[in-house]
Amino acid sequence: MGGNHAATGAAAWVAVTASTPIAFGWYPGVTDTGVIAGALVCAGAALLPDADHHSGTIANSLSPVSDVVVKGIEAVSGGHRKGTHSILGVAVFTAIAWGLSLLSIDTGNEQLGTILIGPGIMCVLLVAFALKALKITRDTKILPWTTSITLAVLIAIFAPEEWYWMPFSVALGCIVHILGDMITTAGVPLLWPLKFKSPYWMRNKRGIELDWMWRSGGNIAIPILGNAGSVREWIFLVPVSLYAVVGILWAFLNEMGYDTMAVWNQIVAIFPS
Ligand SMILES: [Zn+2]
Repeated sequence: MGGNHAATGAAAWVAVTASTPIAFGWYPGVTDTGVIAGALVCAGAALLPDADHHSGTIANSLSPVSDVVVKGIEAVSGGHRKGTHSILGVAVFTAIAWGLSLLSIDTGNEQLGTILIGPGIMCVLLVAFALKALKITRDTKILPWTTSITLAVLIAIFAPEEWYWMPFSVALGCIVHILGDMITTAGVPLLWPLKFKSPYWMRNKRGIELDWMWRSGGNIAIPILGNAGSVREWIFLVPVSLYAVVGILWAFLNEMGYDTMAVWNQIVAIFPS
């Protein structure tokens, strides 16, 4: 499941921030560098809600530190797929990201200026999680870390203004994860720690029957994709992953100075309007 969450996180970031014709651009001001780096950060953030599980991707990512952190989250959030899969959980993860985004050191050096170490650390961790989960390389021990550290350092030096979107990226990743679990699993406790029974009108058999949405323990599910690992899930994931790759590639080509819009207009011209 980890890789699927990461792919949807990256796709969501592209859809929301890119200003290309295939994206919505709802969150304005993100540069092409931001689209690329943010897609990786958001992919990693989309794994965070499962940091409540000691055998998950994150727990084994950076032993023994990650194990301790995951055990802590597991204890605070009430176990797997509880607090971290709720609206409150998203708020807490976002607040932590916002707090960390303020963490900086003034180097006293005119050229280096103030270095935002908080966002830098978050970038390293989240991108490493994403690369591990996506299994882009066979080596899942060293390469995810060297790649993410390189990316964080490059951004810190060449584009430090990028970090303003960090808390938003974490929020978006967590939301996408929860939605993903909602449509593939036995549901998520959105209103945790509150538990609600299904509303009466949902149980009322003469009315609209929506009781299936309500699972045990107050979990809410809209399992349109069936069980995790189902064929339907793959039919959903292939275009989503492809979309993320195209979006990142597009931002990269823009960055390299290619006239991507001219190519796009030529492709569009093939189809009669
Ligand atoms: Zn989950």
